[in-house]
Amino acid sequence: MITVGANEAEVERLLAGGELECPLCGGALARWGHARPRVLRGGQGPVRLRPRRSRCRGCGSTHVLLPAFALLRRADLAEVIGAALAAKAMGKGVRPIAAAIGRAAGTVRGWLRRFASRAEPVRVFFTRLLVEAGTDPVPPAAGPSPFADAVSAVAGASVAVASRWPGVGKVTPWRVASAASGGRLLSPGWPR
Ligand SMILES: [Zn+2]
Repeated sequence: MITVGANEAEVERLLAGGELECPLCGGALARWGHARPRVLRGGQGPVRLRPRRSRCRGCGSTHVLLPAFALLRRADLAEVIGAALAAKAMGKGVRPIAAAIGRAAGTVRGWLRRFASRAEPVRVFFTRLLVEAGTDPVPPAAGPSPFADAVSAVAGASVAVASRWPGVGKVTPWRVASAASGGRLLSPGWPR
């Protein structure tokens, strides 16, 4: 599984030109059909997704290309989950957050728990990204909780990435976070 940009035409162009790299051997990835279609839940309704599958010309391994707006094994868009994480960092509770974004409280609680359990490694990861990407990086000051600090680090890294690579365009912090984590922002054990 590899995270790619949200623009399908651009992904096709990169595949055709052999510009996407195999994460295992560095070989060029070529088109290899599609993964099974799925429907994700966005803030404004369902989002249909038919992820591209690719095959390495070097080692023959296959990789699903997941757009940056999706997180691995999550039914909701990265932005939706990110909005819940940001609200929690501002001190809001599970039920008001769930009501505001129209999701079940149990679902939101699951996201918050997973993020909270990994808050420190996540903060360290994005602070490092911020420092590497930033032209004049200022790591965020310590906030009210490790959870809020991790969310601040995600936001700071996103700004740094967007200013360093203007081609990245106008993307939300959570799309940057999704891409930077390879879709694993809420996966167990990420980052190692
Ligand atoms: Zn390979």
